[in-house]
Amino acid sequence: MPELPEVETTRRGLLPHVVGARIQHTLVRRFDLREEIPATFARQIQGGEITDITRRSKYLLMHISRHKKTPIVLLIHLGMSGSMRLEKPGFALKKHDHVVWELSSNQHMVFHDPRRFGVITLLSPLEITTHPLLAHLGPEPFSDGFNVAYLQRALARRTVAIKPTLMDAKIVVGVGNIYASESLFLSGIHPDTPACALTRKQLAALMNAVRTTLQAAIDSGGSTLRDYVQSSGNTGYFQHSFTVYDRASEPCVTCHTPIVHKVHAGRATYWCEICQPRHL
Ligand SMILES: [Zn+2]
Repeated sequence: MPELPEVETTRRGLLPHVVGARIQHTLVRRFDLREEIPATFARQIQGGEITDITRRSKYLLMHISRHKKTPIVLLIHLGMSGSMRLEKPGFALKKHDHVVWELSSNQHMVFHDPRRFGVITLLSPLEITTHPLLAHLGPEPFSDGFNVAYLQRALARRTVAIKPTLMDAKIVVGVGNIYASESLFLSGIHPDTPACALTRKQLAALMNAVRTTLQAAIDSGGSTLRDYVQSSGNTGYFQHSFTVYDRASEPCVTCHTPIVHKVHAGRATYWCEICQPRHL
């Protein structure tokens, strides 16, 4: 599944190629993604210029200015298996290429999504903070709003374990299953620790660990176990750099104790019993 680092990598990959380009034609080959693509979609962005690409959580936001009309924002979510890529004119369409934007920069931007859990829709710039998909999101992990005082407040009454709490987008966006295990290992926190029991020092360590882990993944071009293709067309695998994730029974990189794991609600958690002592 594309996680925040993959989405950020996609954004950075597309940015220099599509900003300043006009949308000359939009081909929608399938409208039935997780949510139906609006019927007027192609018409509303016809002739518009892509002025910027930003990201909120795992949503790509393409800002489009339009002649004699208010600007509009093209929201793209890659779902479980989606990817974006750039092609030259005359390229061969692949199965699962659902939307193709023909750009004035002599390139085609392609949305590819075998499982069709992705979302493509339009919103006004004012809806970036109020749209139902975006309104309830917690702070970005790299923003100033994600700090120790915030975490103390947000977790004060949360008696559930820190691992699922960290993956809750209302607390902080973009910490998926892989990065939750990795961040907890890096900060020396047992995944079953009640969220409200973490000390100020532990919260500071965890906050730094989340940033370090995500930044490392972004720097390496994003990670996922399958289905992800960078905007340049290269796969963005990163699994060899994991310290605990997917390493059950292998030696801890710090103390050589075998890594343990458990599956809870379908999500696997990996940790070291020595480096991440259980909360008593
Ligand atoms: Zn260890």
